Amino acid sequence: MHPAKFARLMRVAIIGRPNVGKSSLFNRLIGRQHALVYNKPGVTRDCLFEKAEYGGFTFEVVDTAGLDDGVDMQEDEAEMRKAGPQMKASGIGRWPAHLLTEALENTSLVVKSSDLVLFMVDQRVGLTPLDWQFARWLAMKNKPTLLISNKADGNVSPLDENLANISVTGMKDVKKLGLGEPLHISATQNEGMSELIMHMAPIIMGVDRKNRQISTEWKSEEERRLRLLILGRPNVGKSTLVNALVETQADEKKEDFVPLLVGPEPGITRDPVSVIFEHQGQQIEVIDTAGLRKKGKTMQHGDAIDIKTSYASLKRVPRADLVILLLEINKQTGLLTEQDITLATEVIKEGKAILVAVNKCDTLSKEELANVKKSSPRILNMCFNQLGEVPTVFISSQNRLGLKQLMTEAISLHEKSRTKLSTADLQRWVHDIKRIGKMSPPTFPNLKFARQVDTKPPTIVLTCSRSVRSTTAYMAYLTNDFRRTFGLDGVPLRILLREEL
Ligand code: GDP
Ligand code: GDP
Repeated sequence: MHPAKFARLMRVAIIGRPNVGKSSLFNRLIGRQHALVYNKPGVTRDCLFEKAEYGGFTFEVVDTAGLDDGVDMQEDEAEMRKAGPQMKASGIGRWPAHLLTEALENTSLVVKSSDLVLFMVDQRVGLTPLDWQFARWLAMKNKPTLLISNKADGNVSPLDENLANISVTGMKDVKKLGLGEPLHISATQNEGMSELIMHMAPIIMGVDRKNRQISTEWKSEEERRLRLLILGRPNVGKSTLVNALVETQADEKKEDFVPLLVGPEPGITRDPVSVIFEHQGQQIEVIDTAGLRKKGKTMQHGDAIDIKTSYASLKRVPRADLVILLLEINKQTGLLTEQDITLATEVIKEGKAILVAVNKCDTLSKEELANVKKSSPRILNMCFNQLGEVPTVFISSQNRLGLKQLMTEAISLHEKSRTKLSTADLQRWVHDIKRIGKMSPPTFPNLKFARQVDTKPPTIVLTCSRSVRSTTAYMAYLTNDFRRTFGLDGVPLRILLREEL
């Protein structure tokens, strides 16, 4: 058994028979290859523990040993043994007895120490006898459990749809497992993951913070630093912007000021990946500047390579506090292209705040610029309605115009995303929502109280008196009202409903 490596984090265990895709989900959640993924049962024998930062949440995830045949857990699990011969008959491999016992013990301990169990079945194979036995065993453990139906490639369902309506070959009985509605995902295709994380969230937030103080205190200089990621299509002017920011700093200091260039690892001379400078006393680190470097080729909009480069930087989003989405004034493509929207959607999913910077304003006449400024809120609001009114700054990187305002807005938005609201303020909001009752869907839950459980992004758990299946419209209403009330435009919010225990 692994020692409490991430003692303060809440623990999520992935459980299921071999080959359902546990390791694939584990790797997806930790954001890299760690667990062996191999199309052969029994590859993962030891449990793997890793810290996951996914969808704006941090937790510990455990890839458990895939339980195999001949299961001999405890008396109450004797039934599982019956599944053994059938599994052997289906050609699933076995482990030597001593390894099996070790694996089972580990899994059992992990379940006991976990706050949430993800029980995974394979949608393509359908339920096997071992799934049934396993589910029964798990039901007795009394742990919050989510039923995950994996390998639903191209067949995942959106959050607010009635999952019960989905008919999947071989999985008709999945609800009879007694573990609730299945969530359909594809671990390898990265589908259904935001739905999964949103279902995990209330449980994560409800249990993990018991002993954890939410602290908005900044502890060290490094933590105080605002980590900025500049995202945008090729040629919108990202490299020019970073250079302009750095040069502006150098000018202001009026000395041989060299902004700090940070390599990937200390002591290794390589291309810098970060640039650090100061604005209004705030240290700002622009991350992934290596990703902005030119390869001596001007790319054309719509190139296949276009898309690849834009998406490569998305990997850095989890590290950033804030993302500047750089757009360009372009008479041919308009202000926003599909790619910009895709990039922004990914950022919002990660729970990061977005600041829009519209570059190349020098290419427009005064009149044209005034028109763009007038029409842009409408265009941007249509695309980013989950964020309210996204703060927007009009700049010219080449002429170094608007850069100070850009940095000031960035600092202000960062502050907002770190907002910690008092319980009294939150209660007042709950009270107003109930009193005004502007929107009362049939499933209107009886809201009791609100608690902020996290910042960056602000995360609120709303306790209600009975279980509800919230609709997207209702959640959007709550979120918009919350954002308006507390002035959090540009900041993604997480509002989670939780039934009072
Ligand atoms: P584990 O034994 O439960 O940890 O399963 P693995 O993660 O090792 O996956 C077993 C096999 O299923 C591998 O070949 C994976 O590539 C494959 N697999 C896992 N998830 C998916 C998925 O979502 N879709 C498809 N098509 N294959 C998957
Ligand atoms: P990146 O691919 O996003 O890093 O874009 P670059 O910074 O390499 O800029 C692409 C092209 O746009 C270059 O030719 C720049 O000179 C030009 N450019 C960048 N910023 C501006 C600007 O503010 N105004 C104008 N007119 N051109 C710019």
